[in-house]
Amino acid sequence: MKTLIQGGTVITAADTIQADVLIEGEKISLIGQNLPKDGAKVIDATGKLVMPGGIDPHTHLELPFFTTVSSDDFYTGHRAAAFGGTTCHIDFANQRKGETLHEALEKWRRLAEGKAVLDYATHMSITDLRPDVLAEIPSLLDEGITSLKVFLSYKNMYMLTDGEILQVMHKAAELGMLVLVHAENGDVVDMLTRQFVAEGKLSPEYHALSHPAWSETEATLRAIALASVANVPLYVVHMTCAGAVDQLTYGRQRGLPVMGETCPQYLFFTEDDLRRPDGAKFICSPPVRTRADNVYLWDALADGRIQVVGTDHCPFLFDGTKPLTYEGEVYRSPGKESGGGDFSKTPNGMHGIEDRMLLLWTYGVGKGRFSANRFVELTATNPAKIFGLYPRKGTIAPGSDADIVIWNPEARKTVSWRTHHMRVDHNVYEGMELVGLPEKVFVRGELVVDGESWYGRRGSGRFLHRQSHAPVV
Ligand SMILES: [Zn+2]
Repeated sequence: MKTLIQGGTVITAADTIQADVLIEGEKISLIGQNLPKDGAKVIDATGKLVMPGGIDPHTHLELPFFTTVSSDDFYTGHRAAAFGGTTCHIDFANQRKGETLHEALEKWRRLAEGKAVLDYATHMSITDLRPDVLAEIPSLLDEGITSLKVFLSYKNMYMLTDGEILQVMHKAAELGMLVLVHAENGDVVDMLTRQFVAEGKLSPEYHALSHPAWSETEATLRAIALASVANVPLYVVHMTCAGAVDQLTYGRQRGLPVMGETCPQYLFFTEDDLRRPDGAKFICSPPVRTRADNVYLWDALADGRIQVVGTDHCPFLFDGTKPLTYEGEVYRSPGKESGGGDFSKTPNGMHGIEDRMLLLWTYGVGKGRFSANRFVELTATNPAKIFGLYPRKGTIAPGSDADIVIWNPEARKTVSWRTHHMRVDHNVYEGMELVGLPEKVFVRGELVVDGESWYGRRGSGRFLHRQSHAPVV
């Protein structure tokens, strides 16, 4: 089957050109002016932008957390992502204490089975580094897994010691793998959390106060230092504050292969939001910071100090005592209320998989903070390159998968949880005005979103094997 996208403006990270795009089967076959129709189904994209579908490199679908599980699964999360212009994502298989990495991987695989609509991949989180686990790492390459996540925080849960992290990094360096790090000082967070709880200081703002920016700043530099010792590429997930960005810049200026990601919540919200009556919605780790940090992160996205915008999509219902209806089906799951008003027991996480591209377009490109090309680079091309998916994903080029968004720069809507497609009972961006929206979304040549219509098919998404020795951007 052939589809010809005619008359649009094709935007990649590098170029803006007036061109038609021919899709044959699952791939882009030709890009050029006045391409012949030649039996193809024609889609008129006059006045529209034709961009690669977004790649969200940081999601947690159906993640078990405390006494519950994140509320989007591999179907609802994929559907929401597609409505937001994202066509591919990378999730996390999380090793639990005592498990092998392959046991963790099998559990994670089962979550996607029969549900996935988008193509997807996974990072492997290592939380229990035993000799047999270290020995298991090379076999992950056979599974197409080329990135390992480690935690400097979540003491007694996920946290590894600096020495263990160095061991993981040495192994990754040997194999051409990338290391991802959650950079917060786990001892500091643990001590402050216990102290606030003992003093009865339980409200959401104490979540931020127990995760200070300096503990993230310190841990970011420590992770960079460890990566330098091991000579391994490093990717710092969910950076929230100016201090952390400065440490990343320090490393990059010295030629170290270190890269960073931020997420929409860190561009829009502050600790003040945790003091709202519905402050629990904003509990995520690391926490939202200050207005100055928001501005600093926007600037770092514009000038290249930060390379990627992910989401850390990990939604929980605000009021899980009430059922939610999704595509006509009733969904129930304990949510933020299950913390009983205690920040230390409240599930950590926010939604974003549908919001990311929409917000970055309106508030990034629309407000003149960066170009449409930079938007593509931050949301698709850089994630594809860094995580070993390029050029199959993340660009519009002959031979690439036809993961394409036709974007209408004139379309408008107001964000609301009543009309979004994520399976969550609120939207933290409620009421924000968006200008510029995806109109048609293709996944490997198949139209899955057309305006408000949904054509995605459960189980059509594929697991992606990624390449090792991916470039550092
Ligand atoms: Zn995360």
